[in-house]
Amino acid sequence: MTVNKSQVTSVFWICEDVHYSLLKHQYYNRMNYSKYLSKVAGRRKPSGISDMRKYLVNPSPSLVWLGSGMPNPTQFPFREVTVGLNDGEVLHLSQDMLSSGLQYGPTPGYAPLVTQLKAMVERHHSPPRWSESNLLVTVGAQDGVSKAFEMLLDPGDYVVISDPCYSDALCMLASLAPQYLAIENDDEGMVPANLRAALKLAANSEEKRMPKALYLVPNASNPTGTTMGEVRRREIYAIAQEYDLIILEDDPYYFLTYEEEQNIPPSFLSLDIDGRVLRFDSFSKIVSAGLRVAFVTGPAPLLAVMELHLQSSVICGPMFSQVLVSELLREWGEEGFSRHTAKLRIFYKNQRDAMLLAASTHLTGLCEWTVPKGGIFLWLKVVGVKDTGPMIIERGITKNVILIPGKEFVVDSSKPNQFMRAAFSCVTPEQMMKGMENLASLIREEIAL
Ligand code: PMP
Repeated sequence: MTVNKSQVTSVFWICEDVHYSLLKHQYYNRMNYSKYLSKVAGRRKPSGISDMRKYLVNPSPSLVWLGSGMPNPTQFPFREVTVGLNDGEVLHLSQDMLSSGLQYGPTPGYAPLVTQLKAMVERHHSPPRWSESNLLVTVGAQDGVSKAFEMLLDPGDYVVISDPCYSDALCMLASLAPQYLAIENDDEGMVPANLRAALKLAANSEEKRMPKALYLVPNASNPTGTTMGEVRRREIYAIAQEYDLIILEDDPYYFLTYEEEQNIPPSFLSLDIDGRVLRFDSFSKIVSAGLRVAFVTGPAPLLAVMELHLQSSVICGPMFSQVLVSELLREWGEEGFSRHTAKLRIFYKNQRDAMLLAASTHLTGLCEWTVPKGGIFLWLKVVGVKDTGPMIIERGITKNVILIPGKEFVVDSSKPNQFMRAAFSCVTPEQMMKGMENLASLIREEIAL
């Protein structure tokens, strides 16, 4: 099929490159990606300077580069970097790697790392539309998710979220002023029947404004610790197909589910036969949060728009971090990586068990909770207290215990909320016991008030 420019319905595109790549994929995929894009996304334009960098890939020795304004690396104060690993091995960054790590780099990411990440995605998710997908390194998953929201949402557009929802996702969304379909959770996350009912209601409303996107955290969710089973994932994917939604799969806890890797339910990316899933992975919880290395995988046309955003916001992600992660993955190999994530699973499962023991010792009768199947959070409902906000914020510190009130995880934080989130990642079992004892005393005091 040949496609000409007049077949594009969207009128706001000013970026020709994106325009044509969208066209191509739009018809190939049967997904009309242009209809999902916000006005801001439509105004993004490529950097001519970044574009010239393509001539720096395998340049001829006689090329005289008078292009982009890179600083002269001979003037950087670093000569060599060697990093010791916990297992006694040492990563030594070669001169070449150091040059890449200290200089501006390609917006999509450090090329060797991008290759490794693509192999990783193929191994874990074998995306059905892999040949039409792409991958971008982002500055943490937070950066990827917020850029995706900005790409998709204009003020007043509807977005589907779970209730409760990751608090920082709510912060990202707040600035975009969307309207929310907040879908109730149970102990497997978003409830499909409620999702379907809310979408049906929206479709039958006078406005008939349908959401464009659905955001969820499928594994070891933040804040509830719930993991969605395979049947539910398939059901939600089918609903997204029916209502033509883009799914934003934010999955930083994938490797922190306590299940063996082969028992983790299939990701939405691996179910995605249409090209409607953007998946966000992160090294924050499995390698280091400070390196700020994460990646987004999904349909190439949408990633092309996100790449323009990255180009204008950060030029490229932290190159030094990317070189380090790449070298670490190379040093470990697939086996070493699996050994590392298996150790993490055991560590966090033991933390979870210690937290459950502390909670049942001190909070039985005061709080209810579901047992998290992964991750680092225990989601507590306080039985006899109407609103945990004032209790924690005004009096928690006097009892030497701080956790996050449930109101941080809902759209309308002014409503009373009986929940709270306790993180058990960085405390010892003794501290957990003490913390839960202090919390019990705080709750009793609050009930008596
Ligand atoms: N999404 C969720 C659900 C999270 O819990 C977090 C970390 N708090 C992030 C995204 C951010 O991760 P990163 O450090 O990769 O930006």
